[in-house]
Amino acid sequence: MSGNIETMNPKRGFLIKKTVLIVDDEEINVEIMSAILADDFYVLTANDGKEALDILLSGDNKIDMVLLDVFMPMDGREVLKVRQENPDIKRIPFIVCTSDKNIEEECFHLGVNDFIKKPYENPDIIVARVKRMIELYEDRSILKEVEREKLTNLYNIEFFKKYAMQFDANFKDLPKDMISISINRFRLINELYGRAFGDKILLAVASKLGKCISNCNGLVGKDAGSTFVIYCEHHDDYEILPIKLQEAMKEVVNDIHVSFRIGVYPFVDPSLDKDIVVGRTKTTADSLINEPTKTIAIFNEEKQTKTLHKEELIEAFPSALEEGQFKLYFQPKYSTHGDKPAFTSAEVLIRWISPKFGFVSPGEFISLFEENGLIGKLDAYIMEKAAGYMRSWKDRFGLCVPLSINLSRIDIYRPNLVEEIINYADSNGIPRDKYFIEVTESAFVEDAKEVIPVIDRIRQAGFKIEIDDFGSGYSSFGALADLPFDVLKIDMQFIRAMDKNPKVKDIIKMIINLSKVFEATTVAEGVETKEQYDFLKENGCDIIQGYYLSKPLPINDFEELIEKELAK
Ligand code: C2E
Ligand code: CA
Ligand code: CA
Repeated sequence: MSGNIETMNPKRGFLIKKTVLIVDDEEINVEIMSAILADDFYVLTANDGKEALDILLSGDNKIDMVLLDVFMPMDGREVLKVRQENPDIKRIPFIVCTSDKNIEEECFHLGVNDFIKKPYENPDIIVARVKRMIELYEDRSILKEVEREKLTNLYNIEFFKKYAMQFDANFKDLPKDMISISINRFRLINELYGRAFGDKILLAVASKLGKCISNCNGLVGKDAGSTFVIYCEHHDDYEILPIKLQEAMKEVVNDIHVSFRIGVYPFVDPSLDKDIVVGRTKTTADSLINEPTKTIAIFNEEKQTKTLHKEELIEAFPSALEEGQFKLYFQPKYSTHGDKPAFTSAEVLIRWISPKFGFVSPGEFISLFEENGLIGKLDAYIMEKAAGYMRSWKDRFGLCVPLSINLSRIDIYRPNLVEEIINYADSNGIPRDKYFIEVTESAFVEDAKEVIPVIDRIRQAGFKIEIDDFGSGYSSFGALADLPFDVLKIDMQFIRAMDKNPKVKDIIKMIINLSKVFEATTVAEGVETKEQYDFLKENGCDIIQGYYLSKPLPINDFEELIEKELAK
């Protein structure tokens, strides 16, 4: 046995020899050639073209090389013609063994790879030649296999990126674009109409893109799923691309609508890693998933950074919750009824302190978590924690500090919300009327049908309800009469605007009076100055919250504050 012609057979797992099929009607030739090759190869033999084809087409043996005589009962050239039509046989290299120089050219045209002269003279050279030809062929087919995606025969994504870099090197000064094209709901198409149908669509897209790109400098590749990528010289008119693709679709499907999403990254900086560029182009295309009327999106760095950051936050949420990265802060509320502001209670405000992102403000993550429903889990966590703190203060200080918890409008849709709240309070031995729930006026107004009944049940169960940000939601006085609430919290915007616009002071006075009509407590938040405090106190606002008195405090500072208040 000799060296590199042997390969590991992945199926059998041990070293095997290559198999050569000798086709010749003259027995003596078969014998001589068999003897020459026997040490280095497994040898099969056939006595005419037909027998050879039987062996080749049966697939019983993996043939690595055919040595073919020409003049025999079924002519060698007939065999070569069959080979040209059959991709399985075409993969096998053929060497023609002949003494007739004149038929060489004809055989070349029929795709023969090499010739060996009869009569056979130098056995070593014959063996070397057969080995070399098998090696060459294997290298070529391996290369072809790894470079190309099987179905479409386009470059696979790895080679696409590699050749895109070569393209950069060859056309240094040419401005270039990266484009990603995906078929919308392709998985569904596959499921509904079958894989063969899906393949047909992919092939049609591949062929159309290939044609489009053949008119300019560039290359096309196939990524995973239904995604194609193009790297080409810069164009301004990509609107034509979906039109071309629709034309291609008309040719293969008539009654099914196939739509695309296309992301374009123009003027690619060649120093950027191609992985990053392809990734950004795909994300740009994916931004259209929820916009069915649009087909093309152009990469926008700022927008994409924001989207990516949002995705990162969403991804980080479960472990952040588990690891306790969400911290409850407490902003004290003070009564205006005495000579001095008197501490009464606090609002719970959540803070995300992430080892990865640093301090993430609720303004950034609350609306994001509302969009995808994660807020439910977060608010449940906060409610439970808050109840736990209240219990510990009761045990430690002998008093129950009332807390207000912000409820998102999304929480309303949690099926067991009311029972959960009851459970947090009761299982911790907290009087329900010390547990306040803040709901924004806009949630009350905009989702009135869903929100009012749930909040009503919470209130009926004995909890206190605050209308947050009152005045921003444009509810009519009539609507207010239907809302179940105990506390009216004036929207911070009014407090902010009152110094600049005297009319706002009148509005604040009106809100306080309105609140009195409903026998509700009035709270002002966002109070930052003594002037604001004095005005609110003079006009009958019961409770004040804001930086003038205290910022939201972390747990240790807040507990210190409770201790100080008790010592007074
Ligand atoms: P909000 O419920 O209206 O909370 C009041 C916001 O005003 C808080 O911002 C608070 O820190 C801030 N603030 C308090 N006093 C002052 C002041 O004197 N000046 C100024 N400029 N600001 C003041 P924060 O903590 O950033 O919260 C923003 C919003 O995020 C909250 O508005 C609330 O809607 C939401 N949020 C905060 N925590 C939670 C939570 O646990 N659950 C839910 N669902 N939402 C929350
Ligand atoms: Ca609030
Ligand atoms: Ca508020």
